[in-house]
Amino acid sequence: MDEFEIIRRYFARESSGEGIRVGIGDDGAVLIPSRDCDLISVVDTLVSGIHFPETLAPADIGYRAVAVNLSDIAAMGARPRWMTLALTLANAEPVWLDGFARGLFEAADEHALALVGGDTTRGEQTVISVQIIADVDTGKAMLRAGAQPGDAIYVTGTVGDAAAGLSILQSGLPRSDDVDYLIRQFTRPAARIEAGAAIASIAHAAIDLSDGLYADLEKLLLASGVAGSLELADIPLSSQLTNLMHEDDALRFALAGGDDYELCFTASAAEDKIADIGESAGVAITRLGQVLEGSGLKCTRNGDEYDYQDAGYRHFN
Ligand code: ADP
Ligand code: MG
Repeated sequence: MDEFEIIRRYFARESSGEGIRVGIGDDGAVLIPSRDCDLISVVDTLVSGIHFPETLAPADIGYRAVAVNLSDIAAMGARPRWMTLALTLANAEPVWLDGFARGLFEAADEHALALVGGDTTRGEQTVISVQIIADVDTGKAMLRAGAQPGDAIYVTGTVGDAAAGLSILQSGLPRSDDVDYLIRQFTRPAARIEAGAAIASIAHAAIDLSDGLYADLEKLLLASGVAGSLELADIPLSSQLTNLMHEDDALRFALAGGDDYELCFTASAAEDKIADIGESAGVAITRLGQVLEGSGLKCTRNGDEYDYQDAGYRHFN
């Protein structure tokens, strides 16, 4: 199967997305930007064996490749519009490609995101690069910079589940409902697109959680030029996670694990307003810290100072 056959069979769908003058097939996609909008561009690459286990189901790989990018769009408070896919494969396996494309379009269709182009090449290992272009009302993108002393720090959903799921996937705990739930948080992360758009109206700063709560919150604080405190007892943990392990281990996954794709943001809005936003977006929002003057992130556990070292997974470390 050559490159053109792969594109035709698996990726060139009748495009349902709006704002496309020319999609797959020409030298470039021709897109029609919305009026009074800024464009947001994100790209994320997944390398087989590094960002996902080689044995992961192809549909899960396709889904994740889109979802991790959607999460960046959610963190900007933007609406995903168009996507391109750069795919490097060692060989063109029909079963793999079929599953991969299914998962990819499943994630894209949840947000009316259209695949408008890409590149297909042969290489030694599977490398998947997805780029998404999104739009947001002019000047309204949420940034990492902007947190102010006195803001509260919030997180959507629960944290630590995906990292625990990946660890279980690799070590092979016996299956149970709790185990399946955690694995699914790794294989099928839910990008918080709706929550991001709603949060944008009140947040001073936001980031999505890909490298672990501690490391990502540190990045937000650094970008904002402020300090922060994090109360470990307030970190939202799922019952599935705490059913399977001691709270200390659950907290380690939550702080340093990564792959959560939840949103962490700061705001000074009233608590009932925050709760309303969570309810309308269909996700719990939990307050777990405070923005302070200065620099750095310190942790407390039930009010007592807690020394936290490990700063999460970093590429090329
Ligand atoms: P070019 O040689 O001009 O770069 P290609 O022959 O590589 O173009 O690709 C032909 C068309 O197919 C282009 O419109 C390109 O965007 C699209 N395309 C290539 N690979 C993919 C892919 N994996 N998914 C979606 N579209 C793709
Ligand atoms: Mg060309």
